[in-house]
Amino acid sequence: MFDFLIIGAGFAGSVLAERLATVGKKKVLIIDKRNHIAGNTFDYYNTDGILVHKYGPHIFHTNSRDVYDYVGQFTKWRPYEHHVLASVDGQLVPVPINQNTINKLYGLNLTGEQMVDFYKKRAEKTDVIKTSEDVVVNAVGRELYEKFFKGYTNKQWDLDPSELDASVTARVPTRTNKDDRYFTDTYQAMPLHGYTQLFTRMLEHPNIKIMLNTDYADIAGVIPYKSLIYTGPIDSYFDYCYGKLPYRSIDFKFETIDTEKFQSSGTINYPNSQPYTRITEFKYLTGQIHPKTTLVYEYPKAEGDPYYPIPQPENADVYKKYKLLASTIPNTYFTGRLGTYKYYNMDQVIAQSLTLFKKIMSEKNVNHLN
Ligand code: FAD
Ligand code: UDP
Repeated sequence: MFDFLIIGAGFAGSVLAERLATVGKKKVLIIDKRNHIAGNTFDYYNTDGILVHKYGPHIFHTNSRDVYDYVGQFTKWRPYEHHVLASVDGQLVPVPINQNTINKLYGLNLTGEQMVDFYKKRAEKTDVIKTSEDVVVNAVGRELYEKFFKGYTNKQWDLDPSELDASVTARVPTRTNKDDRYFTDTYQAMPLHGYTQLFTRMLEHPNIKIMLNTDYADIAGVIPYKSLIYTGPIDSYFDYCYGKLPYRSIDFKFETIDTEKFQSSGTINYPNSQPYTRITEFKYLTGQIHPKTTLVYEYPKAEGDPYYPIPQPENADVYKKYKLLASTIPNTYFTGRLGTYKYYNMDQVIAQSLTLFKKIMSEKNVNHLN
């Protein structure tokens, strides 16, 4: 009899498996319907020997010392700060929009102070910022919004930014200085030997058993356990009784080229031209030295693996119903990007699972399992 059955071997499930086994001394079975651990962060060496991320580029960044130190137990780090360019008006300019972006795009030589004025003159202020359009138009005006955000968001979500929650485009700020790093978090690094190796170490414990190629639906009611942790889509657990929660998916198209370097930064965004949203060249992220290089093109789509919960009020309402239903089931926990229908980065998922671990351990009934 397992103390915990954990569905999903991504960060959400694996962090809990590790904590429960190591600190909680619980017996854990973690399953995944895929043929590998590491969830959407899974990486592997392709046939040319280049380390690639199967489900799109994953860059680790966090402001949480706790999260950074926790993950650091399972990997050495390679310092890495991600830089992104956008193809706009026939030029490649830095994103997030900053002093360098504006000066290059418009052939200007504005100082930091003048940048404040530049944005102020263009910004269209509204009282309440509700949508992803409001966020950008309020900060920098409609022209930059249309050049950098409208087309990209349309492609990525098949929605106009005015139909999406403000939190989506708020992920990409606008700056008055020359900082053209994509993220400004205190800790920015990549696992030196990749995510899959990190997960292998995280799950290497005699109290953890792993079962791959196994869908929860195939073993529900067959394998006995005391508590369940579910990190798959919450609506699937409940057989979609309140309707399907929508997700965006992506087609990842990989291309290996017989050249050492293809593009001038880790990622190039294509807000307006091209059917894909961005091209990422893995060697920037991994630091690998190799005579060839592999790229991934991202083509957003509606059907397929559920990658992105869609932040819209009507979806949040449906999720709330599932959350309420979930709270009525004893010894069953939902966590992770799919389990809580939240557009979370890796570090947020890790923090969420570390918090849930503490909650579980403080609950009397589980402590009685000892
Ligand atoms: P997942 O990694 O999705 O794991 C859930 C697992 O559950 C999956 O392996 C799935 O197969 C399994 N599962 C689901 N249902 C079942 C079932 N019924 N039975 C058995 N198994 C099941 N975050 C960052 O911090 N930085 C980035 O640069 C970044 N880039 C991203 C790029 C893309 C294209 C995407 C889609 C996401 C990106 N993220 C990034 C977010 C990151 O992927 C997530 O925050 C994190 O991987 C979520 O972990 P999770 O365990 O909640 O979910
Ligand atoms: N976005 C955009 N233009 C860009 C970059 C981002 O319009 O050049 C918007 C788009 O809606 C995107 C969101 O901001 O989905 C969040 O971008 P991020 O790079 O954080 O997306 P992720 O890496 O999670 O796919």
